[in-house]
Amino acid sequence: MSAVPAAAPAAPAPDAMRAVEGLVARLAARLGPAHVLTAPEDIALHLREERGLYAGRTPAVVKPGSTEEVAFVVAACAEAGVPIVPQGGNTGLVGGQMPFGEVLLSLTRLDRIRAVDPVDMTMTVEAGCILEDIHRAAEGEGCLFPLHIASQGSCRIGGNLATNAGGTAVLRYGNAKELVLGLEVVLADGRVWNGLKRLRKNNAGYDLRQLFLGTEGTLGIITAAVLKLFPRPAQRVTAFAGVPDPRAALALMKRLREEAGDALTTFELMASFGLETVLKHMSGTVRPLGAAYPWYVLAELSAPTRAFDLGALMEAGLGAAFEAGEVLDATIAASEAQAAALWRLREDMSEAQKHEGGSVKHDVSVPVSRVPEFLERALPAVEARLPGLRPCPFGHVGDGNIHFNLSQPVGMDKAAFLALWEDFNRIVHDIVADMDGSIAAEHGIGRLKRDELAHYADPLALELMHRLKQAMDPMGLLNPGKVILTEEQSSS
Ligand SMILES: Cc1cc2nc3c(=O)[nH]c(=O)nc-3n(C[C@H](O)[C@H](O)[C@H](O)COP(=O)(O)OP(=O)(O)OC[C@H]3O[C@@H](n4cnc5c(N)ncnc54)[C@H](O)[C@@H]3O)c2cc1C
Repeated sequence: MSAVPAAAPAAPAPDAMRAVEGLVARLAARLGPAHVLTAPEDIALHLREERGLYAGRTPAVVKPGSTEEVAFVVAACAEAGVPIVPQGGNTGLVGGQMPFGEVLLSLTRLDRIRAVDPVDMTMTVEAGCILEDIHRAAEGEGCLFPLHIASQGSCRIGGNLATNAGGTAVLRYGNAKELVLGLEVVLADGRVWNGLKRLRKNNAGYDLRQLFLGTEGTLGIITAAVLKLFPRPAQRVTAFAGVPDPRAALALMKRLREEAGDALTTFELMASFGLETVLKHMSGTVRPLGAAYPWYVLAELSAPTRAFDLGALMEAGLGAAFEAGEVLDATIAASEAQAAALWRLREDMSEAQKHEGGSVKHDVSVPVSRVPEFLERALPAVEARLPGLRPCPFGHVGDGNIHFNLSQPVGMDKAAFLALWEDFNRIVHDIVADMDGSIAAEHGIGRLKRDELAHYADPLALELMHRLKQAMDPMGLLNPGKVILTEEQSSS
């Protein structure tokens, strides 16, 4: 399986070992020994990732407490020629935050909210702030920071920006990249670029933010950001509907948009197998409708005003869809608690799937209008490859983003199933490429999809990526081996 590095890199030469030891001592002298961890029990948590695909290795986990300290660490590593992997909340799903012998730079101590400005509608935060803390700080000022992902209790904003995270409100507010006005970044040589502007308009030269957003720590270390805030919703209406197929789901989405315009904030699709898996394994979850249906939609309307009745708009959209046979049954949450229960059915899907054995995952996107066609092509193709396979497609259909997850057949050996990962990649990603889609919708490339990117990317686009990497990080010290492989790394 390509997910696991084929072979561990050779042991470092004695000179290199001495350089690392000297570096670690130097970092400990500046940061304090409590913030430069080397004992296996202290660093273990940083070296395990959510999916268990990679086991990380590092000579030290370094935890600077300020931008200046990050700059010191990066400069010292550059001087010693020692590569660095940045890590935030370690919730990444493509192995980007895992070190394979590099120094691990953890941003968790940079967790201050520097300022909230309800007039500028901005918040200035350090990279290690937990996403949920940012939500709370925005709410405290009567505002909203609308990046919502299921890992928000542990992921950190630097990681969110480095991966250009998506989530369940992209339909209305855009993904992480679109929620940033300014950035502070430590460059590969340790210099600090202060781009912490709070401007809504700024066309002064190239937009340097874009070099760092979504580039997974390969071009610079994000230490702080100015985020865009929005008015806090005054009303929210959540519905759960059973639908016959993905085409009907899209028809429902169109109706809700016609009724409620951009108050349509969330539109998520899930297959029957996914919901049944959640109901089976996640305690406290309850079947939301009277019967089981082939597909389900979770839809939410929200608005910062009470000037119109979102409940009535939701009912009108669902009612018209019901008449047209696009909705088979639906429920609208009557309280916050009921809304939370409906949300759990969607948010627990990844966790529930773990109880069904091995899962091969694809985070792909196609144009929204072509999601049904994608599913109609991809489902029979993967089922033909392995009879008994249990596909569990779900996700942000309103953004054209499907988590095309495949649970192993009942009783099959897990390792034998996971060994088919590349076969499934080829089937699914070929269809995605043919449909002008993306093999990496919101989780990034990291280590997991690096070879897939090399396989599918336009050669000119790849060449430009290599040139950018060379310009920004000529020594190849920032998160090496992630996203793209430099020529030197390919040949070593
Ligand atoms: C249960 C669950 C649900 C999820 N749902 C979603 C979802 O709906 N949408 C979505 O987009 N993702 C989702 N994810 C994936 C993950 O949470 C996101 O990718 C998140 O943005 C990663 O943030 P993090 O702080 O954990 O970053 P990490 O995992 O620590 O790092 C991710 C990448 O960013 C780099 N990085 C981290 N911090 C910095 C920094 N300060 N500067 C430069 N580079 C940095 C790392 O090197 C790595 O390449 C989910 C994950 C889980 C476990």
